Amino acid sequence: MEQFEILGADPAALAAFGQIAQPLLDWYQRAARDLPWRRDVSPYRTWVSEIMLQQTRVEAVRAYFERFTKALPTVASLAKIPEPELMKLWEGLGYYSRARNLQKAAKIIVEEYCGALPASYASLLGLPGFGEYTAGAVASIAFGIPKPAVDGNVLRVASRLLASFADTSSPAVKAAYRNLIESILPESAPGAFNQSLMELGALVCLPNTSPRCEACPVRALCAARENGCWAGLPVKAAKKERRVEQRTIAIIAADEKTLLFRREKGLLHGMFEPLNLEGHLSKPEIEAQITALGGKPEKILPLGTASHIFTHIHWQMKGFYIKTSAFKADGGHWADKTALAEKYAVPSAFRAFFERAEGLYKT
Ligand code: SF4
Repeated sequence: MEQFEILGADPAALAAFGQIAQPLLDWYQRAARDLPWRRDVSPYRTWVSEIMLQQTRVEAVRAYFERFTKALPTVASLAKIPEPELMKLWEGLGYYSRARNLQKAAKIIVEEYCGALPASYASLLGLPGFGEYTAGAVASIAFGIPKPAVDGNVLRVASRLLASFADTSSPAVKAAYRNLIESILPESAPGAFNQSLMELGALVCLPNTSPRCEACPVRALCAARENGCWAGLPVKAAKKERRVEQRTIAIIAADEKTLLFRREKGLLHGMFEPLNLEGHLSKPEIEAQITALGGKPEKILPLGTASHIFTHIHWQMKGFYIKTSAFKADGGHWADKTALAEKYAVPSAFRAFFERAEGLYKT
């Protein structure tokens, strides 16, 4: 038990934690949600679903998952799809490096593992985009390997069960939780057990001040419930503030087509976007920018403001709709409505401006 000292849990709470497996498995059998990736389990489908579920809600992932696995049913098909088409399939899910890492890993799986995900935790962990959580989830759910899968939901549930005020954003504390969960994993059902903990966090032991303790299958084993201290758990050190960037977005339209540019590096690289300039520009300033690009603005209309939050950056955007006659812009692509919908992957950060510009193309 010394190795769990860092969690600062009471020995009685640690002992009770050792008894959660069976009630959780029984509950999971009754209460698990019917989700597409649980219906037809394969290592590939588990992997894709786990990557999509990082940073994205289950309800949002359902439709993306169905579309993605229909278009790319195998590791081999994922490995060879051209990147722009991959980005288009991922459009709207955000955190696009996830899609790129999926493809990088798929290429390695094809080359080194004959197209089948390796049935080994260590080998999974060596693939791009696989951290300890994803490797544990795929290993346990798809291959029955007894490894823990500890995400934010699990940390919340575990810290409440133990009434532990250890900082869950600390790597050493996370490692202690992984070891603790590994020590109680039922060998016969590691995947179901990991999923039961995640499901409990998603459906019952909800964040903030709203856990549904009366419906919890492990309430009799929960130290936070006994002590009434669940509201302050889990403890997470405050995150670093995001950098705020002001941007000006110009939807430039000619002959019902929109001018798009490919982002060549950094944030959202490989995606297409309208003209995206640093700072909040005035109407004369944006007019000068379009003229410098080679366009002759006929009409410039404000599209208001919008904001988008990335992991480390917060974009505060100001938008314009600019009607011009067609011109050749360096690195620009003119996209009609069909190409916008089917060909170019455009981040959802710009959605508000496209929606506001929708009725203006024919004016
Ligand atoms: Fe969470 Fe309440 Fe269950 Fe404890 S009893 S694990 S606080 S839902």
